[in-house]
Amino acid sequence: MDQDHMQTLERENDNQVLLEEMAYPQSSKNEQAPTNKRATPFWRVLIRWFLTHNFTPQWLPKPWNHPLVGYIVAVLSQFIAVIVTMLLTQLFPSYTSTGLLEALAVALVALNWGAGPSVIATLAGAALINFIIKVPHFTWSFDATSLVQLLIFFLVGITISIVASQIERARRNAEELALSLEVERSQLNAIIETVPDALSIHDVHGKIVRLNPAGRRNTGPKRINTAIDDKQRAFGLRTLTGEPFPTKDIPVVRALQGETVSGVEMRFLNAEGQDIYALMSAAPLFDIQGKVDGVVLITHDISALHQAERERALRASELEAAFESITDGVFLFNRDLQIISLNNAARELLAIKNSSDYLSRSANERMAMLAMRDEQGQLLTGEQWPMSRILKGEVLQGPDAADIIVRRLDGRDLELSVSGAPVRNQEGELIGALCICRDVTERRQLEKRTQAALGALLAMAETLVLPGDSPGSKSGALTTVEVNKIAHRIAELTRSVLGCQRVSITSVEPETNMLHHVAVVGLSPDEERQWLADQQQETRLGDGPDPTIATELRANEVLLLDMTQPPFDTQPNPYHIHTLLMAPMTVGEQLVGLLSLDFGGQEHDYSTDEIALAKAVAKLAALAIERDRLLRERADARASELALREANRRMDEFLGMTSHELKTPLTSIKGNTQLTVRQIKNSVSAFQRMQEMLESTERQVKLLDRLVDDLLDISRSQEQLLELSPAPCDLTAIVRETVQEQQYAWPNRTITLDLPAEGTIPVSADADRISQVLRNYLTNALKYSSEEKPVRVSVSKDQENARVSVQDEGTGLFPDEQAKIWERFYRVEGAEVLSNAGSANAGLGLGLYICKAIVEQHHGSVGVESTPGVGSSFWFTLPLASSIESP
Ligand code: ADP
Repeated sequence: MDQDHMQTLERENDNQVLLEEMAYPQSSKNEQAPTNKRATPFWRVLIRWFLTHNFTPQWLPKPWNHPLVGYIVAVLSQFIAVIVTMLLTQLFPSYTSTGLLEALAVALVALNWGAGPSVIATLAGAALINFIIKVPHFTWSFDATSLVQLLIFFLVGITISIVASQIERARRNAEELALSLEVERSQLNAIIETVPDALSIHDVHGKIVRLNPAGRRNTGPKRINTAIDDKQRAFGLRTLTGEPFPTKDIPVVRALQGETVSGVEMRFLNAEGQDIYALMSAAPLFDIQGKVDGVVLITHDISALHQAERERALRASELEAAFESITDGVFLFNRDLQIISLNNAARELLAIKNSSDYLSRSANERMAMLAMRDEQGQLLTGEQWPMSRILKGEVLQGPDAADIIVRRLDGRDLELSVSGAPVRNQEGELIGALCICRDVTERRQLEKRTQAALGALLAMAETLVLPGDSPGSKSGALTTVEVNKIAHRIAELTRSVLGCQRVSITSVEPETNMLHHVAVVGLSPDEERQWLADQQQETRLGDGPDPTIATELRANEVLLLDMTQPPFDTQPNPYHIHTLLMAPMTVGEQLVGLLSLDFGGQEHDYSTDEIALAKAVAKLAALAIERDRLLRERADARASELALREANRRMDEFLGMTSHELKTPLTSIKGNTQLTVRQIKNSVSAFQRMQEMLESTERQVKLLDRLVDDLLDISRSQEQLLELSPAPCDLTAIVRETVQEQQYAWPNRTITLDLPAEGTIPVSADADRISQVLRNYLTNALKYSSEEKPVRVSVSKDQENARVSVQDEGTGLFPDEQAKIWERFYRVEGAEVLSNAGSANAGLGLGLYICKAIVEQHHGSVGVESTPGVGSSFWFTLPLASSIESP
C-alpha cells in the first residue's frame, strides 16, 4: 500500500462528495441551514470535479504525480492522435477511420489518468477532429454530419471514459479491498498473537489448525492433532469439582454444532501438566454457504482468579473459624446498635438461645434485658454503654476497658470487661462498633478471694507473732484452751479463704501417732457436740481403711479422698462429704497434724490453686501450733528452773534451819548434862533438880528424835516408802488419845473435841501415823493462833470416809499459800507464831508434807479451808474400814 494510493483514495472520496454536491446542489443540508450557506457556483464544482476525478498511473515516476499531468497528457494525446490521423489521411487517402485514434487516446487516458482527463481528452479530440481533420481543415464546421460525427465521438469518448474509469475504479476498489483485507488480516493476526488468552481455531473436525502463543503454551506440540473424541482424556478436561468433563459439553463440540458458547468453566492440564482453571468461549466459523467450517475457541486462564477466590474463601473460613473460636464474646454493632454479627462465645456468654428473639429486638429493649450496671451496681445510661462510647470514636482497651455487670438471659449476673474499637469504611466514616466481652466474674471473685486470703494470711502471721497477747497467759506461754482457740481461728480463716464448708485441725503425736482433734469449724452446735463426743475415742494415724494415707501425708502430699468410692464408701460419713481434702501439717520433716476440709455433699473440683493454698495454710497452722508448743515448753522449762531454784533456796534455808533446830536441843542437852555433872560433884542431895534437868533433856532428845524421824520420813516419802503398819482400829480412839496428849503438852490452851454420836469409827490404819498427822495439825493450829483462841477438833463420817478436822482462829492463809503449804520445805514467809510454844516453835516446813504422804498412803486425802485473819480448818479423810477392799 503506497502513499499515492492513499492519496488517490482520498481524492475518490472527495470526488464522491463533489458528485453529490453536483447532483444535489440544494441538498438537505442546505435546507437545514439555507441562510448560512450560499450555493457553490457550477464552475467551482466543475473544477473540483476535474481536480478530483483523476488518478496517477502506477508506472509514472513520482515527480509526475500531479493531476495536471493527466490533463496535459489528455490534450497532448489528442493532438498526437489528430496529427497521426492527418498523416494517415494524407498518406492513405482511403483511410477513413477518423476518430479511431482519438478514441484510443481517450481510452488510454481514461485507463491511466481516470475520468477527468479522459473527458478533457474527449472534448479536446472532438474539437481537434472538427477543427483540424474535418474538411475544410482548420475551420469549424457545424453542419449536421459534423455535428453527428462530433456527437458520436463525444459519446464514444465519454463512454470510454466512463467504462475505463469504472474498470479502473473497480480494479482499484478490488485492490483497496484486498489491501484492507490484508490490513484487517494483519490486525487480526496481531490481535490473535498478542491476545493474552489462549486462542485456537479448529477445523470442521475439531482439530486445531491455528494457535496463538498462549494457546501453544497450553496445548504443547504433541496434542495439536488430538481428535475431538480424545480431547477429554488428552487435555484432562474436568469440571471445577474434578469430575470428567462430558465430551458433548466441550465448547468446541457445541460450537461445531452451530452454538455460540461463552463462559464455560472447566479444568484442564496444560502442556507442562499444571492444573489450569479456565473460562472457555467458542463460536462457530461459517463458510460462504453458511455451513459450519470451523470453530474459534478462546480459553481464559482463571487459575489465579480461582486460586485467589479459593484463598479468599479459605481466609474467610479461617476468619470465620477464628471468630467462632475466640473464647471471648465478640459482638459487631451497626450505627443503630443493632447486632450485625456475634460469635458462639458471645451467645454462650449472654445465654442467647438460637430460638431467642433477643437479636431482633431494639437496642433499648436488649439493654433493658441486660440491665447493664457499673462495678458499683449503678445502672448505665444509654450514653455510658460501652458500644455507645465506641460509636462516638472511643477505643476501649487495656486499662480503658469498661468493667460492667450484666444480667444474662438466664438471669445470672455476670461481670464483664468490655474492650473494643470503632469500625470505619474506606472513607474513614464510622460505620459500627466491635465489642469484645470477657467474662471476668471468676477473676473478680478470685481477686476478692485473694484479697481475703491475703488478709487471712496476714491474720495468721499476726497469730504467729503475737501469741502472748491473749489475756491470762504469762510470759508468752499459752494454755491448751488458747492453742485450741488459735487453731479454731486458723480453721475459720481457712474456711473463709477457700469458701469450703468444713475445716478441721487435728494434731498428731509424733511418738505414738495418736490423733488429737484440736479444732473444727462449719458444724452446727449439735454436730459440734457430737463431734466432741466422737473425739473421745482413741484413734491413730493410719487406722483408717487406707494405710497409705499416713505414708503420703508424711511425704508432704495433699490427698483428695473421694468418699463415695471404695474403700471410703463403706466408712461412716456423718456429714455426707463427697471429696475430702487432707493437707499435712509439717514442721521440717515432722508431721505434726492434719488440716482437713470439704465442700459437703456436692462434687467439687479442687483447683491447683486451692490445693496449694490448703497446703500453705496447713504449713502455717503447723507453724503456729508448733510455735505455741515451743513457747509452752520454754515456759515449762522456765517454771522447772524456777522450781529448782526455789528448791535449792529452800534446801539452803532448810539446812540453816536444821542446824539451828538441831543445835538448840543439843545445846540444851549439853547444858543440862554439864549442870547435872556439876550438881553431882557439888551437891549429892540435889536429886530433885537433877530429875527436872533429865526430864528436860529427855524432851530435847524426843524433839531431836522427832526431827530426825521427820528427816527420815521425808527421804522415805520421796520414794513412797513410808513404813506403815495398818491395822483395824477405831479412829475416834486415836483422835481422843492424841487430843488428850496435846492437852497435857499445852495445858494453857483450850482444845475441844467433837466426836460422832455412833462412838467408834473403824478404819484400817497405822494408828501411830494417823496420830502423827493429827498431832501435826494440832501443833500448827496451836502455834499459829493466839493463846486465848480455842482449837476445835471434830470427827465425822459419811458413807465411805471418815473425816477429821482441826479448826483454829489463827492467822489464816492466802489461797496461793494454801496450795504450797503441802510442799516440802515450804513455810509461809514471815509466818508469825502467835503462842509461846517453846521448843515446839521448831519447824522445817516438812510436817504437812509428811501428813499428806501418810494420808494418801492410807488412800485418804488432805485439805485446808482458810481465810486470812480469820482462821484455818485443816482436815484429812480416811476410807472407812468396810469400804477398803485391800488395806
Ligand atoms: P512447820 O513444821 O514449819 O510448821 P508444816 O508443814 O507443819 O511446817 O507447816 C507449813 C507451814 O504452814 C507453816 O510454816 C505455817 O506457816 C503454815 N501453817 C501450818 N498450819 C497452819 C495453821 N493452822 N495456821 C496458819 N498457818 C499454818
